[in-house]
Amino acid sequence: MTDLTPTPDRPGLHISKPSPTATATASAVCHCGASATATGDAQVSALMAGWDTAHSSAHTKSTDGGTL
Ligand SMILES: [Zn+2]
Repeated sequence: MTDLTPTPDRPGLHISKPSPTATATASAVCHCGASATATGDAQVSALMAGWDTAHSSAHTKSTDGGTL
């Protein structure tokens, strides 16, 4: 079984929804050290939107010289 859970060494956003009726869960770890989890479709959707704004692609738009 492959563990896709993000870690500081392998940052990212992982979403799990085993079936259409299952509760969605998400976990995210950013290379900046931030992490977050969400449970339920609404919270997962909010996490996805907020994570991309505050982390993820937001860092690539900065000029702080971060390496990805
Ligand atoms: Zn970040």
